[in-house]
Amino acid sequence: MTVSRADVLRALELVKLPASGQSLAASGRIGDILVEGGKVIFAIGIDATEASAMEPVRRAAESAVGGLPGVTQVLVGLTADKAPPSAAMQARQQAQRPGPGGAPKPSGVPGVKQIIAVASGKGGVGKSTTAANLAVALSTLGLKVGVLDSDIYGPSMPKIFGITGKPQIVSGRTLAPMEAYGLKIMSIGFLVDEETPMIWRGPMVISAITQMLREVAWGELDVLVVDMPPGTGDAQLTMAQQVPLAGAVIVSTPQDLALLDARRGVAMFRKVAVPILGLVENMSYFICPECGHQSDIFAHGGARHEAERLHIPFLGEIPLAMPIRETSDGGRPIVASDPSSAHAKAYVALARQVQAGLGGAMRAAPRIVIE
Ligand code: ADP
Repeated sequence: MTVSRADVLRALELVKLPASGQSLAASGRIGDILVEGGKVIFAIGIDATEASAMEPVRRAAESAVGGLPGVTQVLVGLTADKAPPSAAMQARQQAQRPGPGGAPKPSGVPGVKQIIAVASGKGGVGKSTTAANLAVALSTLGLKVGVLDSDIYGPSMPKIFGITGKPQIVSGRTLAPMEAYGLKIMSIGFLVDEETPMIWRGPMVISAITQMLREVAWGELDVLVVDMPPGTGDAQLTMAQQVPLAGAVIVSTPQDLALLDARRGVAMFRKVAVPILGLVENMSYFICPECGHQSDIFAHGGARHEAERLHIPFLGEIPLAMPIRETSDGGRPIVASDPSSAHAKAYVALARQVQAGLGGAMRAAPRIVIE
């Protein structure tokens, strides 16, 4: 049985707004309703200041629609045309008052010790490839690792890890993460088909990410690697505030333009007082597979100088290499599929730097052997 938009609206007639008692269906706040098989996705328009008051309404809407016959999954977001003023204000306060005493930090995710963001100032610099290989590399160091693909405009983790299928619901609204190469993985790409147009606006994106963060049975993780959406706009800034981040890794290519973008990324995390773990130079140099000659295609070394200039750690260089692209695009990240290669070792070196940057909390638990 397929659910229709009219069925969804009928279910929403039973959800009332707290202030006026008006039904949500009649309130004019429901945006486009996307129905795909048993999946229903829509947004409730709110004023930015209403976000917490409307959260119970969002939940009620989800359970009302979730109860319709034929509905297997519901994703409802709150959407405001502008980022909440409090977010921008908090960011400004943080900038003026660095260190302790800034805006309250978002609460952590139970069972997850540290959350790190992998970010880039613009798309196409290899952020997702770096995030995936960094995650596998961290797990080779003995850590329990998860990956949250929050690049909602172009989720790439399903492809990079070669995962098909849908996450199962474990209880109520909680989803089980998918698994590959010993990692727990969650991506909006598992919930929405690749062809689905991304009609979501910034704040709804944030709501979807918060759900993926908090309503997934991550279990016990030493580190959750969040692949951020590219860029440094409002959505990214608000997200950096919503997720309790222990630190951020910025990925850049050596070109000046990308570095300029990377600089914006650094500034963004500084604004919200998230420690910068450092800068990675991706596609740094090219080693000819035939003759072994190294060519600095994009003026190699720019990121190292930039890191020095910005007083942030330089985490290392990842070469531009065909096997990295082939394995990443083929669903077998190189650290997992060819761990003894020089390329995999470059990612492991990066993982060690990140681990050191996060400090003792990320050390692997000692393995207890019972004989
Ligand atoms: P982003 O997340 O920044 O958009 P991706 O990780 O999706 O970038 O990478 C873009 C493309 O570049 C992909 O085809 C990927 O396989 C390739 N790529 C990324 N890093 C490297 C690298 N070091 N060497 C070769 N290809 C790479």
